[in-house]
Amino acid sequence: MSFKMTGYSSLKRIVDIITDLSHSTPECAKEKYPEFPSLSGHIASLFLKDHLHDVLPRLRLQLRIVERYNPPIRPALDPYSSTQLGIFSKNFSDWEVGLFLNYPACCIRSFSEEVRYGFDSRHLEELSSLREEVVFVSTAGFVPHSIFCKEASERALIGFLKLDDLQLLNDLEEELSRALPHPHPEYQKHYYDILTHDTQH
Ligand SMILES: [Zn+2]
Repeated sequence: MSFKMTGYSSLKRIVDIITDLSHSTPECAKEKYPEFPSLSGHIASLFLKDHLHDVLPRLRLQLRIVERYNPPIRPALDPYSSTQLGIFSKNFSDWEVGLFLNYPACCIRSFSEEVRYGFDSRHLEELSSLREEVVFVSTAGFVPHSIFCKEASERALIGFLKLDDLQLLNDLEEELSRALPHPHPEYQKHYYDILTHDTQH
């Protein structure tokens, strides 16, 4: 049995975990989230030291905006919050960060063990088998093992859209970057990765 998430429900799942960690002790956090014990313990201890006081208000604002747009694919977690939580640091394994972000094991394995840190020729070959007018969209920072990965699609991490439907995602990125300014250079107005046939030439 599978259940298709929306971009909103996929993002809410992460924000709910962070909210839960905000009032957990590091010991409880590790026990409750055995798939990413170091990261959950770290986040709980940062909340305990009051180092994350601005993270939950930002994530709640991001959730409200995403709920209003109701995109089919989850935008990247607010880059400022991700930085504060330690997601971009190299202190935690790809597996811990990936499982925290609800990435499927098949895609974490491909990212981590085959070192597919970005879209490569295999993704592009898959893309070239598609109809011209369809574009591929993924959560920024997430690299699927295949653009046809069923689990990633069910978790609202990837999807195919018509060119006309991209406007919704562009508007959402625009509003998120206005409402939640941040200094991360790689993620300015960049909450999605978008691949089209045209970019291949
Ligand atoms: Zn996969």
